[in-house]
Amino acid sequence: MKIFKSLFNRQNKKPYKSRFITLFLFFTLVLFLMAEIVLFIVYNVLHIEESNAYVVVLFVVPGCAVLITGALIYLNYRSYEQSNKLINGLNQVADGNFSYRIKSEDGEVFENVYSNFNKMAAELSTVQSLRESFVHDFSHEFKTPIACINGFANLLLEGNLTEEEQKQYLKIIADESQRLSLLSENTLLLSRLNSSDMLGAKEPYRLDAQIRDSVILLENEWTKKDITINSNLAEATFGGNAQLMQQVWLNLLYNAIKFTPQGGEIKLYLSVLEGSLKVDICDNGVGISQEKISRIFEKYYKCDASHSSKGNGLGLAIVKRVIDLHGGKIAVASKVGEGTTFTVTLPLK
Ligand code: ADP
Repeated sequence: MKIFKSLFNRQNKKPYKSRFITLFLFFTLVLFLMAEIVLFIVYNVLHIEESNAYVVVLFVVPGCAVLITGALIYLNYRSYEQSNKLINGLNQVADGNFSYRIKSEDGEVFENVYSNFNKMAAELSTVQSLRESFVHDFSHEFKTPIACINGFANLLLEGNLTEEEQKQYLKIIADESQRLSLLSENTLLLSRLNSSDMLGAKEPYRLDAQIRDSVILLENEWTKKDITINSNLAEATFGGNAQLMQQVWLNLLYNAIKFTPQGGEIKLYLSVLEGSLKVDICDNGVGISQEKISRIFEKYYKCDASHSSKGNGLGLAIVKRVIDLHGGKIAVASKVGEGTTFTVTLPLK
C-alpha cells in the first residue's frame, strides 16, 4: 500500500506527475519491446503456429510488463522514502533541531548524503552551543564591571563621604572602566581573529628583536616588581603577521610578570630547530594546578575566579588563536608554587 501511496502522493504534486509520466513511458516502451521480442521468438525460434502465438503474446507480454512495472514502482517507492528522510531531516534542522540525525541503512543510495547531512547538523550544533556560551560568558563578564561602576558612582552621588573614600571609589571606577575597555577591545580582536583573513600577508621579520622589544615595552611592569629577566635568544627570522605576534609575546610576558611574586625571575629562550622555531617563557611564579591547566586557553577563563587579579581571561585565548593562524603550537608545563613554562613552536616555512 505504502508503495502506491508514494506513487500517487497528492500532497507532492510535482513528483507525482513526473513519476506518473516516467512510469507511463516506461510501461509503453516495455510493452512494445516485449511484444517485438516475444513475436520474434514465437515465429522464428519456436516456430509456433499463428493461432497459438496470439495466446502466448496475450499472457506473456502483459505478465512481463506487470513484473517490470512492479519493480519500477518498488524502486520509485524506495527513492521516495529515502528522499523523504532527507527532506524531513532538513525540515528539522530548519526548525532549529540541530541534534537531529538521519539513520541510514546498509545499501541505501543516499547513504553518503545522510552522512554529510549528519556532519553538517553536528557542525551547526557546535556553532550554536559556542554562540550560546559566548553570549553567556560575554554578558557575565560585562555585567560585573558595569554593576561595580554604577554602584560606586551612586555612592559618590549620595555624598557624605570622606575625601579618602571619594578617592578610593573614583579609583575603583577608573580601574573598572579600564577593564571594561580592555575587555571589549580583546573581545573584538578575538572575534576578528575567527577569520583567517585577519592574518594578511606573512612578512619576514626578526623574531628575537620582537621578543626583546616586548620586554622593553613591559619594563615598567617588571621593574615595579623587581623581577629579573634573563634571556638567551638566537637570531631568527620568522614569516608572519608581526603585529599579531607581538601581541602573543606581550600577553605571555605580561602573565609571567603578573603571576610571579616580587623579586622573581623570568627566563626567555629562542632556539632554531630543524624546520621550526621554539620560544620558551619560564617564570618561577604561582604556577597552575593540573586540573586547571587544560582550561587556561578557554575564553574568559581565569584560574582565580575572583576579580582580585587584573585580566579578563582572554589573553591566552588570543595567544592560542594567533599561533594557530600561523600554523604553530603552544604547550604549557606548570607546578603550583614552582612556576610555569609556555613553549611556542612556530613553523619556519
Ligand atoms: P588573564 O587576563 O586572566 O591573565 P589569560 O587568558 O591570559 O587571562 O590567562 C588565563 C589564566 O591562566 C589566568 O587567569 C591565570 O590564572 C592563568 N595563567 C596564565 N599565565 C600564567 C602564568 N604565567 N602563571 C600562572 N598562571 C597563569
